[in-house]
Amino acid sequence: MTVLAATNNLKKRDELVRLLTPLGLSVVTAAEAGVDLGDVEETGTTFEQNALIKAVSGCKASGMPCVADDSGLEVDALGGEPGVFSARYAGAHGDDARNNEKLLHALRHVPAAERTARFICAACFCTPDGVTLTVRGVCEGSIAFHPEGSGGFGYDPLFLPAAAEPADGKKPTMASLSDSEKDAISHRGAAIRQLAVKIEEYYDRQAKGAVQGAGQRP
Ligand code: IMP
Repeated sequence: MTVLAATNNLKKRDELVRLLTPLGLSVVTAAEAGVDLGDVEETGTTFEQNALIKAVSGCKASGMPCVADDSGLEVDALGGEPGVFSARYAGAHGDDARNNEKLLHALRHVPAAERTARFICAACFCTPDGVTLTVRGVCEGSIAFHPEGSGGFGYDPLFLPAAAEPADGKKPTMASLSDSEKDAISHRGAAIRQLAVKIEEYYDRQAKGAVQGAGQRP
C-alpha cells in the first residue's frame, strides 16, 4: 500500500519515511506526490484530535491514504506544558531554538530529580473512503540542563530518554543518538510500529468480511 506522509515538517517527514518503509508501507512525500498540504490549523485539544485533523486534511488534498502525526513534549514540573502547544511554545511555530531556550528558562530552578518529561506521538492513518486508525506512542525521560547533540529536531537536544544507554557514564540526549537509535526508542517509532500492526489487522479483518461498509485496501 502506498501512503502519503502528510507533514510539512521535513525532519518529521524523514522520520516517518524511515519508520514506515521497513514495515511494508510504501511512502511518498507531499513533494513527490505533487501535493500542497497547505497550513493546517491544529484546533484540537489532544494530540489524537490534531493527528486526525492533519491526516483527514492530507487525504482531502491528495486523494491518497495518509499517515500524519501530532507530537510534543509534556514536562511534569510545568503541569504537562508545552503539550499540544510544543511547536509554538515560544510564539512562532516551529522555532526550535527559542522553544528550547524558553523551556530551560522555565525549569531554571527545578532540580534534576524533578525534571521528568515525556515525548508523546499520536499517529493517524486515514483513507479517502473514511477509514481512520489512531495510536499513541510515548517516550519517557527528563530534561537536561544544557542542550547537547546535533541530530533529530525540536526538543531533542534537551531530552534525556530513560531508555538510552549511558555513554562514558553519562545519559545521552535524544539529539546525541543516531537515527536508528532514536527510532528504536522514540515516541514516533513506538506509534508508527503500533499503527502498522493496526493497519494490517484492519485490512485482514476486512478481507475476511468482518468490517462492514469500509473501503478496499488502497
Ligand atoms: P506538531 O508539528 O504540531 O506535531 O509539533 C511537534 C512539535 O513537538 C515539534 O515542533 C517539536 O517542538 C516537538 N517534537 C515532536 N516530536 C519531536 C521529536 O521527535 N523530537 C523533538 N521534538 C519533537
